[in-house]
Amino acid sequence: MASPLRIAVVGAGPAGIYASDLLVKSGVDVRVDLIEKMPAPFGLIRYGVAPDHPRIKGIVKSLHRVLEQEEIRFLGNIEVGKDITVEDMREYYDAIVFSTGATDDRDFQIPGHDLDGSHGAGEFVGFYDGNPNFSRDWDLDAEKVAVIGVGNVALDIARVLAKTADELRVTEIPDNVYENLSRSRIKEVHIFGRRGPAQVKFTPQELKELDHSPTIEVIVDPDDIDYDEASESARREAKAVDQVCQILEGYAMREPKEAPHKIYIHLFEAPVEILGEDGKVAGLKTERTELDGAGNVTRTGEETTWEAQQVYHAIGYRPEGVEGVPYDENESVMPNDGGRVLDGPGGEAVPGLYATGWIKRGPVGLIGNTKSDAKDTTAMLLEDHEAGKLEPAPKRELQDILDRLAQSDVAVTTWEGWHRLDAAERAAGEAEGRERKKIVEWDDMVKHAGPEYHI
Ligand code: NAP
Repeated sequence: MASPLRIAVVGAGPAGIYASDLLVKSGVDVRVDLIEKMPAPFGLIRYGVAPDHPRIKGIVKSLHRVLEQEEIRFLGNIEVGKDITVEDMREYYDAIVFSTGATDDRDFQIPGHDLDGSHGAGEFVGFYDGNPNFSRDWDLDAEKVAVIGVGNVALDIARVLAKTADELRVTEIPDNVYENLSRSRIKEVHIFGRRGPAQVKFTPQELKELDHSPTIEVIVDPDDIDYDEASESARREAKAVDQVCQILEGYAMREPKEAPHKIYIHLFEAPVEILGEDGKVAGLKTERTELDGAGNVTRTGEETTWEAQQVYHAIGYRPEGVEGVPYDENESVMPNDGGRVLDGPGGEAVPGLYATGWIKRGPVGLIGNTKSDAKDTTAMLLEDHEAGKLEPAPKRELQDILDRLAQSDVAVTTWEGWHRLDAAERAAGEAEGRERKKIVEWDDMVKHAGPEYHI
């Protein structure tokens, strides 16, 4: 093949950016188009990481350097499956890597899940991170709220709900988020885990920093600290598990702290029903559980009712499929064998299609984990290229896909456009003494970031 290998990476979050980087550094002559649904790049970093997590948001700096490479071209504001079909894309690319991640909440089907005031965590994250696809308004007219699930998303939600709006003002939150949070009446956040301290999914650093705010006291009931043999061995085998247990024990044992907002972490409480009054959330019913010796739990029949005017379920995300690409409904991933997309679970590889990140292995793991994922996936792609298994795309000039997109009603945003949007957000932030203030509206983002290739 005389011209460079033409690859589309769909989804410009960390997973897609790591994959693009590995491809252009592979030694093979490659040109990557990094295609993104949103007008701006960085996916989860921009629209998933909590605003008061600047250390994690800082990963953007290294991703930024990747996108400066001339072999990678960012093309934003394009929804694959809608603005251009996957079948169409095959005309322009020798291979397509999907790194589309996950923003939908997993279904939570207990009685009362559809009451007014029952929310998926992702909806609230979308709101506070200024994702234009989510609501601009958030009702925080509640004194007590419940958060179901004991993973890092539950911690993000609880922290943002319990902090004062002024504490978050220094971050990149947009004006509408600050105004909403300023009206919050929340005093107590109750987090519920259905298993024990050795089974929670928190990571030590995130659990520890929950208590750093002077306005927040974290409380754990000493009765909720319990271990069985499997829990003890989990502590011995993984340092992080042991650290999390120690932090929880610390919260359970220490002297009370004078703080206006409380975050309670309740363990061994399985949600049974969200209780309602006049169609609105009024409480949560849970059933006590106990360890079964193998690190799992059994239910005891002992029920408790907790007062709460809102319930957030942070029980995990659900990666969405892409029109025209096989999707495993049971596992909520693209069926794949280490990264090669299969025509169904356990089926045959579909030539030229690959997956990486959460759409490949499900919505678990930290951002760094997607690096090794991307390594495996891109190695397979290059192996297939080497073996002549990739069908060369007939239209392979860089301009060809732009001409095709010009036929659709798509205002493509670009890397140069991102620089302009970035500068506008930084200028808006600087005026208020902060690093950045996010621009939320889709059209405003497109106005700054594109279109350079237009209809
Ligand atoms: P997660 O870590 O998988 O946690 C989900 C939690 O929901 C688990 O505690 C799980 O309990 C619980 N759960 C699931 N179904 C439930 C049900 N029906 N009833 C009650 N509880 C239920 O998912 P996540 O919090 O969405 O996080 C996703 C990934 O992003 C994780 O790898 C996380 O570390 C990462 N992340 C990192 C940060 C950070 O700041 N570093 C921030 C956010 C997210 P069981 O274990 O009992 O099933």
